[in-house]
Amino acid sequence: MRRKLAAGNWKMNGTKESLGEIETLMAEHASPSVDVLICPPATLVATLADKAEGHALAVGAQDCHTNERGAHTGDLSAPMLVDAGASYIITGHSERRADHGESDADVCAKSEAAIAAGAVAVICIGETLEERESGSTLDVIGGQLDGSVPDNATGANAVIAYEPVWAIGTGKVPTTAQIAEVHAFVRSRLAERFGDEGSAFRILYGGSVKASNADEIFAVADVDGALVGGASLKAADFGPIITALQ
Ligand code: PGA
Repeated sequence: MRRKLAAGNWKMNGTKESLGEIETLMAEHASPSVDVLICPPATLVATLADKAEGHALAVGAQDCHTNERGAHTGDLSAPMLVDAGASYIITGHSERRADHGESDADVCAKSEAAIAAGAVAVICIGETLEERESGSTLDVIGGQLDGSVPDNATGANAVIAYEPVWAIGTGKVPTTAQIAEVHAFVRSRLAERFGDEGSAFRILYGGSVKASNADEIFAVADVDGALVGGASLKAADFGPIITALQ
């Protein structure tokens, strides 16, 4: 059985003051049956990891460099993030693919680095609106999966997050049939490549998940949890999403 995962991606939001939300979250929404992950900006990883000590809360980073160390001003390596307390690292988020020109090969190398450092890579894929409307969604998803998931990935060290670009931060959500189609496709593609291990990977849905649509989305086959942006910033919004996964 795959454990459900409620993952929060704070993106470029949050200062030390925002960590009060996590205290509320840990106090009011801890769940024995759901893995809860918060990926704050890198500036807060170590502080949050200290706070989460002894609690059922995992801390993650939002990106990493492909190398372990070196002359890369401003970058952070996976071993450094793990050292700071990150046990998950998001790779290939569409905002990084768009803002920093990250290719599938870059995402693959970053995911490989995250896994090698002992973190779980949360590898993001998803089509644009144009790709959806032109009917190429599954081709795009298949290509991103093949190109972004490294050979050292297993169900224990990698999570796939399906995030349609047009659903991120827009309030637009695919139909449950559209989510089901992509998640089933991802599952079968993982099985083709990884054999029996393919069924061990958790596949998250992401894009405008909130308390009011969580039940419907989580009822879809092969949806093992969510990657949540806006609605992960406040305990009052994220808590009910965790509850919906129980
Ligand atoms: P959103 O973002 O929940 O604000 O749509 C999701 C994400 O980008 O991970």
